[in-house]
Amino acid sequence: PAFPADADLGAARRVLADVFGYATFRGQQEAVVDHVVSGHDALVLMPTGAGKSLCYQVPAIVRHRAGRGVTVVVSPLIALMHDQVGALEEVGVHAAFLNSSQGLDEAQQVERELLSGRLVLLYVAPERLMTPRLQGMLVSLHERGRLALFAIDEAHCVSQWGHDFREEYLQLSVLHEQFPGVPRVALTATADDHTRADIVERLQLQAARLFISSFDRPNIRYTIVEKSDPKRQLLRFIRDEHEGGDGHDSGIVYCGSRKKVEETAAWLNDEGIQALPYHAGLDADLRRRHQDRFLRQESQDGGIVMVATIAFGMGIDKPDVRFVAHLDLPKNIEGYYQETGRAGRDGEPADAWMTYGLADVVNQRRMIDESPAGEEYKRVQRSKLDALLTLAESPACRRVALLAYFGEESSPCGNCDNCLHPPAIWDATEAARKLLSCIYRFQQHGQQRFGARSFGAGHLIDVLRGKTTDKVSQYGHAELTTFGIGADLSEQQWRAVLRQLVAQGHVVAEGEYNTLTLADSARAVLKGEVRVLLRQAPEAPSRRGGKGAR
Ligand code: ADP
Ligand code: ZN
Repeated sequence: PAFPADADLGAARRVLADVFGYATFRGQQEAVVDHVVSGHDALVLMPTGAGKSLCYQVPAIVRHRAGRGVTVVVSPLIALMHDQVGALEEVGVHAAFLNSSQGLDEAQQVERELLSGRLVLLYVAPERLMTPRLQGMLVSLHERGRLALFAIDEAHCVSQWGHDFREEYLQLSVLHEQFPGVPRVALTATADDHTRADIVERLQLQAARLFISSFDRPNIRYTIVEKSDPKRQLLRFIRDEHEGGDGHDSGIVYCGSRKKVEETAAWLNDEGIQALPYHAGLDADLRRRHQDRFLRQESQDGGIVMVATIAFGMGIDKPDVRFVAHLDLPKNIEGYYQETGRAGRDGEPADAWMTYGLADVVNQRRMIDESPAGEEYKRVQRSKLDALLTLAESPACRRVALLAYFGEESSPCGNCDNCLHPPAIWDATEAARKLLSCIYRFQQHGQQRFGARSFGAGHLIDVLRGKTTDKVSQYGHAELTTFGIGADLSEQQWRAVLRQLVAQGHVVAEGEYNTLTLADSARAVLKGEVRVLLRQAPEAPSRRGGKGAR
């Protein structure tokens, strides 16, 4: 039958209103739906919470009603499939999933519904989609013109530049060859240029139209603080910003290791904050219980703080998460954006708060260096880490930097730490040269007296500030020409200078004790060819009078 485009859009609007009860499409939704419903491919980049699901659910319903059959949704997450199918059935749309959590009977029931043509949406994991059994059924539906659409959710999983690459996603590249003429829509909330190009290439979406929504999440306030005593800093943050007479808000605290997750959760509980640990090392049943409690308990009733590794969060749709805190540096900006994006999905004010310090930079660099991956991969990972460090060290608007990373131009937001409390900027070039020459002197001096020797940050700063410690006496470092040349700066300022120099790769920190050596590029700084501008560490003022004040 003829299928004029404007009739599709009219039908889509009716579905939106009648089935989902929404008066209008949001943002790019209408353009995407219009494009997909009439049978074209699309790559949709929309931030979390913007409403990606409707971009394929509405076309699925319209196309099913027009006799075009079932839409297959590829999704990596069983929990997410469950929720989506439940929500669809609730509004009277026949949907089902096939995954490993099901018994044989249940799966066969779904298969019957699929083959009967009654099913509107079928959710499957990528590995399931590729099984000969399901492929056979889809081929048969395709031959009868009953395969309406493929929707590939979390499409960044196809890219190994992304932060949650999934091997099984690679197989999806054959969909368009196997099922020619079936439109495909790929969706993701996170993709920089690199990842985007990868998605297009690997999913063979060269002909797809690209839809990019603004990634701005204006209700999220970004704050990045220097790490000194991270657990206490976190507690301070929660108490100042997210606690009121009725308990504390729901929030997520990300840590870099399972051990730290356990420690931090226990510690918060001791301090009277209800916290639960979540990481892949916990028993599946316990994980589910913790997740359920976190999801159920609303902020207004005194929420739960979920302390987790990045194993937690994908597909979690809890609207009233009031803060996401990072005690350790994420791998890159995409990770940071996605994790912080779990805050404030209801549009109400929320915080993205992170502490970061020198050890974070060193650890991440080491993880990249020591990974078994190829050089090209490592190079990309390093440049991604650098972009995140630039964001963390930036004295300018965090949001502008964040959005710029995703290719979006914007102006200072007024809702991040740097906009609210502009940090003073100082020219640290001289300080950087002092620091570098001090490391240089260590090497020279050590060579003469003890054989090559390098030292860590603490000792370096003691020498610069002219402190006579046991170690200084032991190594005769008071004799160095650099001893005491940095008495004008505080220890904290020196740490900031050093962190920046490590972040920029002029100083290498390695080994168990993070001992410091000069990189080749340090020469340019020593010669004064490179300027080093730093943000003045702020005093960390309390910004609001607790959660009751908002
Ligand atoms: P995403 O997958 O992009 O993170 P969802 O598809 O889960 O986002 O949608 C986020 C929320 O926004 C959901 O609660 C959804 O019902 C709601 N929503 C989506 N589109 C609209 C719309 N056009 N009007 C009103 N609410 C919408
Ligand atoms: Zn800002």
